[in-house]
Amino acid sequence: MRGSPYDVAIAGLGAMGSAAAWHLSRRGYRVLGLDAYRRGHDRGSSHGRTRIIRQAYYESPDYVPLVRRSYELWRTLEEESGRALLTVTGGIYLGRAGTELVAGALASAREHGIPHEELDAAEIRRRFPALRLPDDFAGLYEPGAGLLDPEACVAALLDLAAAHGAELRHEEPVRSWWVDGDGVVVETERERYRAGRLVLAIGAWIGQLLADLQLPLEIWRILHVHFEPERDDLFPAGRYPFALWEIPEGIYSAFPALPGQGVKFGRHDTGEICTPEAARREVWPDEVESLRAMLNRFLPGAGGQVLWTLTCLYTMTPDHHFIIDRHPQYPQVVYASACSGHGFKFATVVGEILADLATEGTTPHRIDFLSAARFWRNDAREGLRP
Ligand SMILES: Cc1cc2nc3c(=O)[nH]c(=O)nc-3n(C[C@H](O)[C@H](O)[C@H](O)COP(=O)(O)OP(=O)(O)OC[C@H]3O[C@@H](n4cnc5c(N)ncnc54)[C@H](O)[C@@H]3O)c2cc1C
Repeated sequence: MRGSPYDVAIAGLGAMGSAAAWHLSRRGYRVLGLDAYRRGHDRGSSHGRTRIIRQAYYESPDYVPLVRRSYELWRTLEEESGRALLTVTGGIYLGRAGTELVAGALASAREHGIPHEELDAAEIRRRFPALRLPDDFAGLYEPGAGLLDPEACVAALLDLAAAHGAELRHEEPVRSWWVDGDGVVVETERERYRAGRLVLAIGAWIGQLLADLQLPLEIWRILHVHFEPERDDLFPAGRYPFALWEIPEGIYSAFPALPGQGVKFGRHDTGEICTPEAARREVWPDEVESLRAMLNRFLPGAGGQVLWTLTCLYTMTPDHHFIIDRHPQYPQVVYASACSGHGFKFATVVGEILADLATEGTTPHRIDFLSAARFWRNDAREGLRP
């Protein structure tokens, strides 16, 4: 591995790739990082001012050890960068008893001993009067949940990786790669680079550089709107947790009002199927109005003036779990599609796992449930809509 000018080349410097660059460079490896777009761009999945981090993990209790490690690593990153990145605001998961969101969060909290409170509708209204809930709703309140600042997180990861000697090149897309002995050659429009290992962390574009694996992925365009609440004291961070609610119409997330950001709101469980290149960036008035109506149904007055809107990409697997794995034929190539709309909080530990897999071939973290082989075993692709 030490023969090549670079020990590891990383394609994609979004959340996952920048975290891998941080881990690898601080371990002393010679790192080359390549990204197709300018630093801080908004074409992928890691922009939008806020990202939820939580441990009472409704998607599966298997994620809890990983998210606990990521909390530790976000704090380490804060220390090393001297920047505040993770704000604990608390989080509340709402729905009728038995909904996947509330039941799943409760199961994870109990299994892993995560501090939480089970609240009925009356208690939720008493503690968070801005929330308007049907009587038969219940909630799980997680005091340790919080918000990350994605742009600041990625910037801190890139700055520290560069400080540890990583060579980071933006606006230089990787066009192709091939193995060469036990190393790899990475080709961009400008150059050919040799490295001992390759990390592919290109988010929604992953299918383009791993076409041979035919990963069962679907790209969703997701819309979030920042609304100015009608009253400042309506849903302020510090007083209110973020809220996720599951109803027959879907799963929605509302972020408490941060200074200058208003209330950010969006739907989580569906999006317009697209490709990264063709994703519609234009926002239509009726989209905003339907989100405003849904927000005001549960938080009357929160959906005031529109401050701004943003579109962003989810990379969805059929079971909504990540894919983190080594290439089945070329062990010197490792990759991550850690998204399905819930990957950011894990970036620091996914970066650690990618660094382990690239340099040691294994990782102490339990990731068997994230292997791509699960799709090839029982071809679970019918989960993807045609
Ligand atoms: C609206 C929205 C809200 C979300 N909310 C949350 C949340 O609250 N909590 C949470 O945990 N997660 C959340 N997520 C999910 C999370 O943001 C993503 O899982 C995460 O950002 C994915 O990071 P990534 O590094 O895989 O992708 P990206 O950050 O998109 O990085 C991929 C990079 O690869 C580059 N690239 C592409 N092709 C090439 C190429 N050929 N050569 C070189 N570089 C290339 C791109 O330019 C890009 O920078 C949300 C996502 C969205 C869209």
